[in-house]
Amino acid sequence: RFITFEGGEGAGKSTQIRRLHDRLAALGIDVVVTREPGGSPGAEFIRDLLLSGGARGLGPRGEAMLFAAARADHVDATIRPALEAGKWVLCDRFADSTRVYQGEAGVDAHLLGLLETAATLDLRPDLTVLIDVPADVGLKRVAARSRNAGADRGPDRFEDEALGVHERRRALFLELARDEPERIRIVDGSGDAAEVEAAVWAAVSERFGL
Ligand code: C5P
Repeated sequence: RFITFEGGEGAGKSTQIRRLHDRLAALGIDVVVTREPGGSPGAEFIRDLLLSGGARGLGPRGEAMLFAAARADHVDATIRPALEAGKWVLCDRFADSTRVYQGEAGVDAHLLGLLETAATLDLRPDLTVLIDVPADVGLKRVAARSRNAGADRGPDRFEDEALGVHERRRALFLELARDEPERIRIVDGSGDAAEVEAAVWAAVSERFGL
């Protein structure tokens, strides 16, 4: 089973992935947790380039190609081998993030579709959990996270953006969910972590008959 988590900044994806991992593991399921961009040595190298600003000279189309290159390696080196070994894979962001982030940045949707096919060779998630929060709520969480001493991560270059950008991305995610309601389940991420966890579990257990 291949489950991806999507959503904007501060949606709470990583917390929910940890919690879902624990619930599935408690059922004896072998679970691999991974993330994008990254998730394999080659793709983590590209992640560093992208998030450190090392690829700053690229335009949005070139950047989309770097995301695609990272995804190709991640699929080949991590995701497919785990699925073939019978494991469940939980992935923090996948192709929908590219449709939304690089789409919002102006890359043509048809071109993004070609890159997606090239990167994934048509591997699609069995379920995508879209954790939806209003843009201002997500941004406040990110700000609190980076103020919090000892936080494991601060803001990166993608998080230093205007509210309108985040609102457009949220609308694009919701549009994807409307187009593929079978695959993409919207979970309200504005409650506390336990409430969101219950909603994620409802979606996962229903989808896979757990
Ligand atoms: O999941 P997380 O929020 O840590 O993602 C890392 C960053 O990469 C995000 O801030 C996001 O804005 C950016 N990103 C992107 N395009 C993608 C995937 C992630 O710009 N396709």
